[in-house]
Amino acid sequence: GATIGIVGGGQLGRMLAMAAAGLGYRTAILEPDRDCPAAQVAGLHIAAPYDDGKALEKLANASDVVTYEFENVPISAIRSLNEQLAVYPPPEALEAAQDRLAEKIFLNSAGVSTAPFISVDNDEDLERGLSAFGGRGVLKTRRMGYDGKGQRVFRSTTRDVKGCFAQMGGVPLVLEDLVAFEREVSVIAARGTDGSMAAYDPAENIHRDGILFRSNVPAAISPATAETARETAFTILSALGYVGVIGVEFFVMKDGTLLANEIAPRVHNSGHWTEAACLVSQFEQHIRAVAGLPLGSTTRHANCVMTNLLGTEQERAAALLAEPDVVLHLYGKAEARPGRKMGHYTRLLPLDGNPAGGKGSLQNG
Ligand code: ATP
Ligand code: MG
Ligand code: MG
Repeated sequence: GATIGIVGGGQLGRMLAMAAAGLGYRTAILEPDRDCPAAQVAGLHIAAPYDDGKALEKLANASDVVTYEFENVPISAIRSLNEQLAVYPPPEALEAAQDRLAEKIFLNSAGVSTAPFISVDNDEDLERGLSAFGGRGVLKTRRMGYDGKGQRVFRSTTRDVKGCFAQMGGVPLVLEDLVAFEREVSVIAARGTDGSMAAYDPAENIHRDGILFRSNVPAAISPATAETARETAFTILSALGYVGVIGVEFFVMKDGTLLANEIAPRVHNSGHWTEAACLVSQFEQHIRAVAGLPLGSTTRHANCVMTNLLGTEQERAAALLAEPDVVLHLYGKAEARPGRKMGHYTRLLPLDGNPAGGKGSLQNG
């Protein structure tokens, strides 16, 4: 049988490996951490740094196609793999997603609106940007940030920005206008090797301390806004000549206008609900796409609420399993650190149930 190579061995790699197995594929993962979640399910674990030449050679030899499960893979590793076999999503998409400045420039050039932004390489740039944005902004490292790490929020009270650039690590930054959004939604979409595309219903995302806490489906947005979000994801997929699943995060403004926040060239935490409420999960969809198979149905057979189990919250597993409408998924991580994603669960609701609570729903916890 064919083997799908996966760079990265976290929970996303684990769930991709499980989905690949369901379609009869073997998986080979490249991940330095010997105890990573994906190692428990992959057929082959190459335990080496992502940019180790010999390890990349081994992965290429073992695989028929390669994908990746996080966006901070060294681009050089992906390019060297791509000289030997197909790597999906394409390296150009990874490159655009790795640098928040390049990402926003790409989005705008594709006709997708974002928050206003400026490149920040010193305190003077920051000062100029903040005054352009009325004293408000979110300063982010251009590279390597996730779960809100590497960010600083400015509200109009901030006066002195001297030393800020150095405090952020002296690395290239981008300042975005602080967006007064009404809600945040994301779309999980996919494009196949034949150019066909599919998208799931937008999820509404609730963050705590910069980390995704909960996704409600459907999002409390109009059908027209939901359709625009889906169409925007298709615009992005087409512009990138993409193959695989993408996550696109949006800010929804009061008037329904969408601003793209960021793209994730991979399966996405806000799409975990698809395994419980859709005929084909985002993980199977990604495997189908990179394996050159037809994309699957994104039809949703229930409304739902996906909640992350962070830190010690996996202690709730037994209680959650006792509930009839809950689908639980644990990642097999031994060590529970604060804020660490240990698992998630999806509570299914009737198709007329309100995921944000209220009549007819089971929202508490
Ligand atoms: P992720 O874990 O989703 O990859 P990240 O570290 O890449 O997160 P962002 O998605 O850019 O970070 O930001 C995290 C959260 O911070 C957003 O979901 C949003 O709630 C808030 N945020 C980010 N940028 C802005 C902005 N320009 N205006 C207002 N809020 C923002
Ligand atoms: Mg991000
Ligand atoms: Mg984000």
